[in-house]
Amino acid sequence: MLYDLDLAVIGGGASGLAAAVAAGRELGGEFKAAVFDAQPRCGRKLLATGNGRCNLTNRGAAANSNCYHTDDMNALKRVFSCVNVQDTLGFFENIGLVCREEEEGRIYPSCGQASAVLDLLRLELARLNIPEVCGCRIEKLRRDGGEFVMNSPSGLIKAKNVIVACGGKAAPNLGGVDWGYSLLCSMGHTATRLDPSLCPVPVESPHLNSLKGIRAYAKASVCDERGVIYSDSGEVQFGDKALSGIVIFQLSSAAAHARSGEKWIELDMLPERSEQELAGMLTRRRALLPHLTLENYLTGVFNKRVGMCLLKQAGMSPLSRSVSQLSDSDIRKIAAVIKRWRFPVSGKAQWNSAQVTGGGVRLSEFDGLTMQSRLCKGLFAAGEVLNVDGFCGGFNLQWAWSSGILAGRSAAALLPSKSNRKGN
Ligand SMILES: Cc1cc2nc3c(=O)[nH]c(=O)nc-3n(C[C@H](O)[C@H](O)[C@H](O)COP(=O)(O)OP(=O)(O)OC[C@H]3O[C@@H](n4cnc5c(N)ncnc54)[C@H](O)[C@@H]3O)c2cc1C
Repeated sequence: MLYDLDLAVIGGGASGLAAAVAAGRELGGEFKAAVFDAQPRCGRKLLATGNGRCNLTNRGAAANSNCYHTDDMNALKRVFSCVNVQDTLGFFENIGLVCREEEEGRIYPSCGQASAVLDLLRLELARLNIPEVCGCRIEKLRRDGGEFVMNSPSGLIKAKNVIVACGGKAAPNLGGVDWGYSLLCSMGHTATRLDPSLCPVPVESPHLNSLKGIRAYAKASVCDERGVIYSDSGEVQFGDKALSGIVIFQLSSAAAHARSGEKWIELDMLPERSEQELAGMLTRRRALLPHLTLENYLTGVFNKRVGMCLLKQAGMSPLSRSVSQLSDSDIRKIAAVIKRWRFPVSGKAQWNSAQVTGGGVRLSEFDGLTMQSRLCKGLFAAGEVLNVDGFCGGFNLQWAWSSGILAGRSAAALLPSKSNRKGN
């Protein structure tokens, strides 16, 4: 037997490290625990968060559909009732992290380094004598009598309690894997459909080539035949066969949870004006700038290349024509395209460019007050492996911290405390 433990944490990412620290602090380090990670070092994904700055939470993070998608919002509420944003900030303050709030409630370490978050978690693990066993993939998990037995390439591991914190499929380049789903499903749990989320959305458009690299402010909506699924405003980035930028990431998250079927993204390129006001403005420009060719009709309103593509999309080619030749019906067509520029979604987003997994092991199969499996005593789960994913802005890490800290504390509560052990 390689290890005989009170607690095994499978996965040394955000949720697993938080779980191990929380368990260790609860029991004062007086128990045998270890964190196992398949990667050569723990916290690889954590280091990449927030462009290396780690947007570790959001002041507004709460269990509701403005922040999260899940199959069990009530269970999510119970988790947040046990460990909320304030509790999480207290947890980090206690291990030495000072934080700063920025725009839209986003909270970062004040030193601006994701590595500081990882360092402090690892230093606390070392203080609590909880080893990180890296390069060690847990391949199988089973229950044997009152204990769990895990297979790893180096040998068997036994533990009284197990926390599965294996993360999700997103960003395989940073160690994202689907192994956690298999481990939990082998214990009787079930998972939903998995989709890449918080990622660029692949779209079809004859114009993308000429727009590549341009950023523009827009109100973006993802739609299907039933109407608008989700809208948000912000900077949209035109990419190679895809739309990108934070606002599109938010749309990808909503789209990942929508019914499958045809979808498209609609950009309102001038959301501050109604279509009627816009048509009036375009009519005035026709009177003001009759000497220009269409090529420059929208110069000064939009990036020049964006303006030309909008006119082509409205069927105004060739753009060598004079502005004075525009009819009232042409102006209405141009206004309609500016307000509803449609990009059909083409195919699935890429896991490599996704920040999180939409879907996962059903949260309803876990007790939201403890993160313990409803199917198997002593088995806990936390983080992205479960069916909870949030929008951009610190919500996903907050879920990892809340569920991880709760799972760690609850697993520790199942173990006899030091004083009890002495008494035994
Ligand atoms: C580029 C990028 C930027 C991001 N930025 C932000 C941000 O700023 N704010 C935010 O809130 N969220 C952000 N996220 C999302 C956030 O990183 C994740 O939601 C979070 O890391 C999930 O934590 P986790 O512990 O569940 O999984 P992870 O952090 O992925 O950790 C899981 C760990 O488990 C290990 N593992 C898996 N299976 C096994 C096994 N069988 N045996 C042993 N080890 C195993 C893996 O090696 C991994 O280290 C970002 C994601 C990416 C990809």
